[in-house]
Amino acid sequence: MRVIDHVIVGHSGGGAGRRSDVFDPNSGAVQAQVALGTAADLERAVAAAQAAQPGWAATNPQRRARVMFRFKELVEANMDALAHLLSSEHGKVIADAKGDIQRGLEVIEFACGIPHALKGEYTQGAGPGIDVYSMRMPLGIGAGITPFNFPAMIPMWMFGVAIACGNAFLLKPSERDPSVPVRLAELMLEAGAPEGILQVVQGDKEMVDAILDHPAISAVSFVGSSDIAHYVYRRGVEAGKRVQAMGGAKNHGIVMPDADLDQVVADLSGAAFGSAGERCMALPVVVPVGDKTADALREKLIPTIEALRVGVSTDAEAQYGPMVNAAHKARVEGWIQTGVDEGAELVVDGRGFQLQGHEQGFFIGPSLFDRVTPAMKSYQEEIFGPVLQIVRAPDFETALRLPSEHQYGNGVAIFTRNGHAAREFAARVNVGMVGINVPIPVPVAYHSFGGWKRSAFGDVNQHGMEGVRFWTKVKTVTQRWPDGGVGDAANAFVIPTMG
Ligand code: NAD
Repeated sequence: MRVIDHVIVGHSGGGAGRRSDVFDPNSGAVQAQVALGTAADLERAVAAAQAAQPGWAATNPQRRARVMFRFKELVEANMDALAHLLSSEHGKVIADAKGDIQRGLEVIEFACGIPHALKGEYTQGAGPGIDVYSMRMPLGIGAGITPFNFPAMIPMWMFGVAIACGNAFLLKPSERDPSVPVRLAELMLEAGAPEGILQVVQGDKEMVDAILDHPAISAVSFVGSSDIAHYVYRRGVEAGKRVQAMGGAKNHGIVMPDADLDQVVADLSGAAFGSAGERCMALPVVVPVGDKTADALREKLIPTIEALRVGVSTDAEAQYGPMVNAAHKARVEGWIQTGVDEGAELVVDGRGFQLQGHEQGFFIGPSLFDRVTPAMKSYQEEIFGPVLQIVRAPDFETALRLPSEHQYGNGVAIFTRNGHAAREFAARVNVGMVGINVPIPVPVAYHSFGGWKRSAFGDVNQHGMEGVRFWTKVKTVTQRWPDGGVGDAANAFVIPTMG
């Protein structure tokens, strides 16, 4: 059995520790095992990071950026192989796997401009003969703990900025699809990153806890489900670390009566069912305003959903592939049953779907619910599968309240031709990322990504200048160069003012 190992300086592999199965979601078979690391594995990685980081921090930012330029070229040159590898463990279709890699690469492009982003602030003559300047300095060693659903993009969100800022980085990827992170670390080495600057420590809760408790790790960036995000946030902060922890989501799409319904249906089907709904910025709840809008939308959605092509992840015609594993498939099917039991109307039932020749694969057909209400558990919780729920709202104010009062606040979209309604919605909705006629409003790399409420713990977003702030600390220097005259000694005993 192939073993997917750590990327730790000096680690030769072959250990006999715990392992976890990595599946081929298309066939349902185990295709490899991933090593599950221990605190001792982390210790070796931290030692290597500590040895490498001061030299990297002292390397001028332009040279650090050049490594990022080369890394970008290498990832582009390896795009096909990376996308196939990603798709073979995750199950998303190849074109979508390329999107996963590309959106991460855009953060690397941002990191290529790090010399500009790291420039500090300076005030000449802040007092008599006094100048003040601030520098953005690396934290030392940072760690990233990432989810299964974007095994390329989310690691790059984190290490692209952290490493360009002069930190060493330890990546703990999801144990469900750990191979692409390993390849990214190898390509960073090939691009010229010194050994020890990007290492991959494989594992599960045991490794996460070791990271959270390790005194030499200054900052932890986490993306995953909300309960674990909250746990990581609490434990990391308790240990004195800087922590950003992004959690789950339940994004709503509000459809106003004046929206172009054909456009909405095209946008919604991609946003709800793309990547089998395993996206934190998927749009699994649609809120038509008024029954007329709801009935018309439902009528158009049914044939579109029934015509979706579910296939193996290498099928170029397929709109989406299998779920990541059998446990997650069973969980999603369980949520569909909960919806039925709660009294929602199951209009299209995706359970029991079988792909000929791939009967053991983790496939689920698309499902559509109508007349879902806010009191239902299946509305309140994240399903994270190919399931779209219609929640009918009588008016704009009700539609605005639904995402605003939901426990999650990652993304939201409004579909309308009315600029005033859109502007009002964007200003008032209690959600972190808003799309106006844009179903998946993931901000571009030089802006920043982050939800609100239980979708994110901590107060700094991912990537863009927010990422630079997260991965650096500010040192402020107040300087005076006396000309040899004796100062006013009396003033030495009171708090200095610039008056
Ligand atoms: P997950 O929470 O199961 O796992 C995320 C990471 O936490 C993995 O590296 C995993 O090994 C680790 N982990 C799992 N259980 C743990 C435990 N008990 N203690 C400590 N660490 C543990 O999430 P997932 O299923 O891999 O990813 C899907 C979730 O991530 C969804 O909820 C999705 O909405 C969310 N997500 C959020 C964003 C965002 O930016 N807000 C982006 C992508 C995914």
